[in-house]
Amino acid sequence: DADKIDGNAIAKSIRQEIQKEITEIKRVKPQFNPNLVIIQVGDRPDSSAYVRMKLKAAHEAKLSCELRKFPDSITEAQLLEEIEDLNDDTSVHGILVQLPLPKEINEGRITDAVSIDKDVDGFGTLNIGELSRRGGSPLFVPCTPKGVMVLLEKHKVELRGKNAVVIGRSDIVGTPVASLLRAADATVTVCHRYTQDLASIVKQADVVIAAVGVPDFVKGEWLKPGAVVIDVGINYVPDETKKSGKRLTGDVDYASSAKVASLITPVPGGVGPMTVAMLVQNVVDSAKRHYQEQERRHVTPLPLRLQKP
Ligand code: NAD
Repeated sequence: DADKIDGNAIAKSIRQEIQKEITEIKRVKPQFNPNLVIIQVGDRPDSSAYVRMKLKAAHEAKLSCELRKFPDSITEAQLLEEIEDLNDDTSVHGILVQLPLPKEINEGRITDAVSIDKDVDGFGTLNIGELSRRGGSPLFVPCTPKGVMVLLEKHKVELRGKNAVVIGRSDIVGTPVASLLRAADATVTVCHRYTQDLASIVKQADVVIAAVGVPDFVKGEWLKPGAVVIDVGINYVPDETKKSGKRLTGDVDYASSAKVASLITPVPGGVGPMTVAMLVQNVVDSAKRHYQEQERRHVTPLPLRLQKP
């Protein structure tokens, strides 16, 4: 049977490392205060749950984190103005717009309004472009894809020359994961809803990343024996035995897949906790960059005036 990847434990150790790092920096630089602002529009319960998890992780790592909630009725222009203010606010190091936004608002326009050096979700066109460029250097890598790569790294999964199959091609997960795997020298195949004979493609894969949004979609019989399986899915299915009446499950049929794979993430407790840990990391990295930039500006001497006016 496959070894289980413990995302909770890995995420926890990363949060602790980050907290230690913040404490150390604060000892020499007491004004160091990584600060994230989350923008939520409307009251979708799933969005509220994600925002709560992000706030909790930020507080645990001792970051400042503020939630700005707006009603569904906010206009695109008003939202753009809010973002502009946050872009100009030097005490803010990360701006995260919780998606989805109401349909009247153009999501791309909003995520692109976030200044590239505060785009901790990494969804802005500039960060995505850098991620897609061979040898590119995005300021921020999107949190879930970054979390997937850290799980593979921590388990020393060899990627160079290996076949990686990504199921799903969303801007949030599938596409950036594929970019990262390609940058890690894997041979990457991206599958989606129109892919034919998916099972036989998955059969070739040394590493499978499932980001489909369909409960228990990937079956054990599809897998190559010894494959590494990363399940990004977060699906709620009805379950009368639970008090809440529902149960959380991934995009991979765990029971059958764990019999064939060598390494697999559970849901919950796999990729989910990594996403928020990577967000915290992105905010701290951003804050470090901002403070360094400030210092650089302060020490740059003004041009000397050698001639008296
Ligand atoms: P999405 O709906 O935007 O994209 C789903 C992708 O799967 C699409 O590209 C689609 O073409 C493909 N697809 C759908 N049905 C398919 C089929 N039958 N065969 C092959 N491909 C198919 O979803 P998303 O935002 O990429 O999220 C994917 C899953 O990951 C969801 O369950 C979501 O809840 C979860 N998710 C988890 C995290 C996390 O932190 N763990 C973060 C984001 C999303």
